[in-house]
Amino acid sequence: MSTRRPLIAGNWKMYKTIAEAQKTASELIDRTAAADSVDIMIAPPFTAIASVAGIAANSRVAVGAQDLFWENDGAYTGEIAPGMLTEAGCRYVIIGHSERRQHFAETDETVNRKIAAAVKAGLVPILCIGESEAQREADETFSVLDKQVKRGLKGLFAKDLKKLVIAYEPIWAIGTGKTATSDQAQEVHRFLRQVLVELFDADFAQSVRILYGGSVKPANIAELMSMEDIDGALVGGASLDAETFARIVTF
Ligand code: PEP
Repeated sequence: MSTRRPLIAGNWKMYKTIAEAQKTASELIDRTAAADSVDIMIAPPFTAIASVAGIAANSRVAVGAQDLFWENDGAYTGEIAPGMLTEAGCRYVIIGHSERRQHFAETDETVNRKIAAAVKAGLVPILCIGESEAQREADETFSVLDKQVKRGLKGLFAKDLKKLVIAYEPIWAIGTGKTATSDQAQEVHRFLRQVLVELFDADFAQSVRILYGGSVKPANIAELMSMEDIDGALVGGASLDAETFARIVTF
């Protein structure tokens, strides 16, 4: 494990009513009250953000959103502005999740605009990247990830990205039960840190937290976290149950 402070983040996707989200958040807060060496974040659906943030205020659990739009306001039906998220109590925002790239036409260019908007609003962006199974089989993993990072961070400076988090989530491992081995993940994380050295500098690259995501569960978190360049996890399915997620947080 590195000297970077670990971050364990939960992505609740389009699950949970407001009442369910409140209940899970309360239980998680209780179960992780003593976990003081790890940062914890949960990203409920938009409808539950404000009430979960209310419950999580003064706790160790921070709240994030699963997406945002890059404009501050305007005639953009259905979209949510960065300032609306901070007002609702968000500290983090997940950007460019593969499900958004796949189902909602997100591109590296829209991801780039969203990262810039998040930074401007004082939100911590979690930039999600990852290769498909076909890309891995065609030996394109590194070139795909290189492009996603460089395009996603285009035009941004290290001074603006002090809190940047990157989540490496191989698409073939999301919700499939197939986890990348800790060696496979470490190899990619080390590569990503090199990309950050190229883009910015070594100090900056060393400071960025790079999370692994893809079927993380209590049984595999410790092994993943033992790797030098793995600084935490972005957890989908296993974050929906407070007891299970708390076991991941307290690996
Ligand atoms: C995710 O959606 O970010 C994710 C990693 O999902 P899961 O943990 O369910 O694979």
